[in-house]
This record gives sequence, structure tokens and C-alpha cells, in this order.
Amino acid sequence: MSHIYKLALFVALLTVIGCSGNSTANSDLVAVTSISPITSIAESIAGNKIEVIGLVPEGENSHEFDPPPSVVTILEKANIIIVNGFNLETNVIELSQNSKKDDTDIVLLADLHIPESNYKYDFSFPKENGHPNPHTWTDPILGLTFAEEIKNRFSELDPDNRDYYQRNFDSFKVRIMDLDHLIRKSVGTIPSQNRKLLTYHDSFPYFAERYGLEIIGAIQPSDFSEPTPREVIELIKQINKYNVPAIFGSEVFPSPILTQLAKESNATYIDELRDDDLPGEPGDSGHSYFGLLIYDLEVIVRGLGGDTTGIQDFDVSPTFEGHSKTTYPQ
Ligand SMILES: [Zn+2]
Repeated sequence: MSHIYKLALFVALLTVIGCSGNSTANSDLVAVTSISPITSIAESIAGNKIEVIGLVPEGENSHEFDPPPSVVTILEKANIIIVNGFNLETNVIELSQNSKKDDTDIVLLADLHIPESNYKYDFSFPKENGHPNPHTWTDPILGLTFAEEIKNRFSELDPDNRDYYQRNFDSFKVRIMDLDHLIRKSVGTIPSQNRKLLTYHDSFPYFAERYGLEIIGAIQPSDFSEPTPREVIELIKQINKYNVPAIFGSEVFPSPILTQLAKESNATYIDELRDDDLPGEPGDSGHSYFGLLIYDLEVIVRGLGGDTTGIQDFDVSPTFEGHSKTTYPQ
């Protein structure tokens, strides 16, 4: 009996060591991310194994975000730093380079995965400024590419949980493919002469190319000022020439120019698009990358006269197993 008792005790002890060993290893790993769509993609892979800390507060102008010095303590403990890239998070990257551990990689997702032939330059992000339009995440297939890169990086950092990250990636991929199908179907219901986007903040060129919408203009100049009176006149001509039913503004960049443009053309002004600010609050099921893409899809399809059936029913809840350890600053 005593022999069996000892064996049981030994097994119990091993289990305890095993568990605490595992949870210590997991809770030690920290991934620092920048904007909330990238944070959400990383969260979908990390699940409950890696702490993901976003740096850019939601609702802020991410292009000009300058992290406060308090962020240094977060960057110092980061095991990996993941950003969109394409010059979006210059201040975050600079502070990261000065604060991070020597062996912590900074992963620039767009720079790594988008070939130069697919770079988008336009009015708000002109080629002469040297940096392509950074709003890559509005294309869910690019989002999937980023998720795969993140899955590979997490698996290198934490090989014991390789299968968990792979499962999370697989579930994420299934949902992305469903979403891709839904977007294609929904955009297809927009009358073909209306499949044109004119937005204030220039967030949708990658989305538009993927799903067959034409970008007829963006209003915000590259320095985030307001367009000149001459540029406004040109935009009114564009709107009237293309006869678009709606022009779109975003919540983060309210602008009186859009009201004027709508008044002087036949277009409706819809100021509801989201750039990188997830809908709802952290912890809500729609506060996710899927929630963001579904939200913007609904606004665009409705505004351009398409059929929004099925968009609101799309499952935007988390695809990963376990409780998230992700922080979204507000
Ligand atoms: Zn933006």
C-alpha cells in the first residue's frame, strides 16, 4: 500500500510541477502590438497562452500616435513586438528600438508580406513621400497572412504550445474565408455603377482592390490637414461625375468639409466608418478584427445601395480557445 501511496504522491507532485511549469512559461511571454486590428489578430492566435498588450489607444489618430514614456516598461518586457508597418507606427518603432531587449524582434507585417508591386500610393499617401498607404488590415486576406506570420513567431517563442497556436490559426482561417465569401457576395449586391468609394480618411484601397470597388478619391491630405478650396472643387466635380450615392467619413477624423461636399453634390454623407477603432468595448464579442470588418462592410454596402442581408448575422466572436490575456488601451 505504501508503495502505491508513494507512487500516487510522486505522480501528483509531477502534475503540480508540470502545471506550474507550464503556466509560468506561458504567463511570462509578452507580445506587444500597436493598433487594435493587429492586436485582435495577435489575440486570436495567442488566446490564453501569451499576454498581448496593444499600445495605440482606440479612437486615437494612429498615424501620429506618440507613445507616453510609461510605455517603456511594457516594451522592456516584450518578447516580440508586432506592428503593421508601412511607416504607420514610426514613433512606436523608434521607442521600441531604444527600449526592447536585444533578442526581441520587431515584426513589420506589411513590409514583410506585401510585395512592392502591390504597394498603394494615392492622394493621402503619395509616392513622393516614400511610404505606401498603410491600411492593409482592411483586406482580410492580408489579415490572414499576418495571422500566419504571428502563428509562426509564437510557435518559435513557445514551441510547447505549437499545436494550440496552429489550432487557433486554423479556426481564424475558417472564419476569414467565410468573411471573404460574405464580403464578395455583399459587394456584388451593390449596383455596379455605385461600386465606388470616396472617403475622407484613406483607409480602403486594399479592401477596394480585393473586392472590386473603385476608389474615386480621398479627401484628407497627406499631412492630415483639410484640403484646399481648389481641391474641394475638384472633389465636388469627381462626386458629380461619378454620381456616387454616398461619401464616407470616419469617426476618428470628423471634418466639416464632408458636409460641404455632400451639400454641393447629390451624395449623402455617412460619417460612420472605422479605421482601426474596433466596435464596442473590450470584452464585447464584436470588439474584434471580425467585428471591425463586418461593421465597415455594413456601412459601405448600405451606403452604396446594396443588400446587407446576412452581414449582421456574421459570427464576430473570438475564434480561439480559452480566456484572452489581451489588453486594449482606451
Ligand atoms: Zn488611418
